Amino acid sequence: MSNDVLVLFTMDVELISAGENASGPQTNEEGAVRVREYMEVLGDYGYKPTFFIHPELGETQAEMFLELKAQGACLGLHIHAAKFAPTRHKVELGALSFEQQKEVLTLGLEMFERYFGFRADIFRPGCFSSNDYTYKALNELGFKGGSICIPGRVWMDRYCVWAGADIHPHYANENIRQGPGDSPFVEIPLSVDISRLVRHPLGFDHYFDLRPGDVYSNANVIPRDHEQVLANIVRQLDNDKPVLKTIVIDVHNDRNFKDLSTTPAQQLKTVLDNLKPELAKYGMVPVSATYGQAIDAFIKEMKRERNCS
Ligand SMILES: [Zn+2]
Repeated sequence: MSNDVLVLFTMDVELISAGENASGPQTNEEGAVRVREYMEVLGDYGYKPTFFIHPELGETQAEMFLELKAQGACLGLHIHAAKFAPTRHKVELGALSFEQQKEVLTLGLEMFERYFGFRADIFRPGCFSSNDYTYKALNELGFKGGSICIPGRVWMDRYCVWAGADIHPHYANENIRQGPGDSPFVEIPLSVDISRLVRHPLGFDHYFDLRPGDVYSNANVIPRDHEQVLANIVRQLDNDKPVLKTIVIDVHNDRNFKDLSTTPAQQLKTVLDNLKPELAKYGMVPVSATYGQAIDAFIKEMKRERNCS
């Protein structure tokens, strides 16, 4: 088994924030600055990110993202059903029927393709909101994989229920989303530290992940040591020995990742500085990967395993 750990830095590229408990930058100009800063900081460490983009942003930012794609970034689709104007739902994806989800995704795909000139094949829903129809809808629309799962998070207001979910890359299950299955969609879950389930003041349960700052705040609403969370996630990889070892980190386009006087920039630096030494304790090595690359690597590993057994 390889000692490589694929490290996937991602960003949810959000529309302008609608208020206090909504993610997103104050202006699209600010959002573009955050995107470039993130790309630049990661580039100093040799990492290429994956951007999950709300499709409306293609109207003003497609040129920038296509430039970053040419430099090695990967572009995928991000949709908050509650913010996506063409379908006008009041709730996130996980509260919708199969047909409604397919409609949201189809219109999102069409809009994305219109602006970016290619069809998106990776997806992350807003708030990781989904239900047991989601993978079936994604498979029917030809998505090859993505980031639907945030293991352990139970946030009913956002229709995000991932209690008991598999924490490592797996083929998605179209009947029960938390477990591995045999559908073609490759799920690469957000990395979480399962040593402690935490109650968030906003009223949801979750495990700590590596995001800089909190869900809607630059500060840690619940004190969290990023170095410790990373150490625990690395230990899980060593214990579990999954088919493909991945570390997935999520950020939003509303934090400063460059100015080290700010908390998010410091926390991102903590993660970047500690990846190599933390993995080295177990003889593992960090390797930059986008979602596209990691999905291909997973499919290859699974084929190899099947041929061996
Ligand atoms: Zn989002």
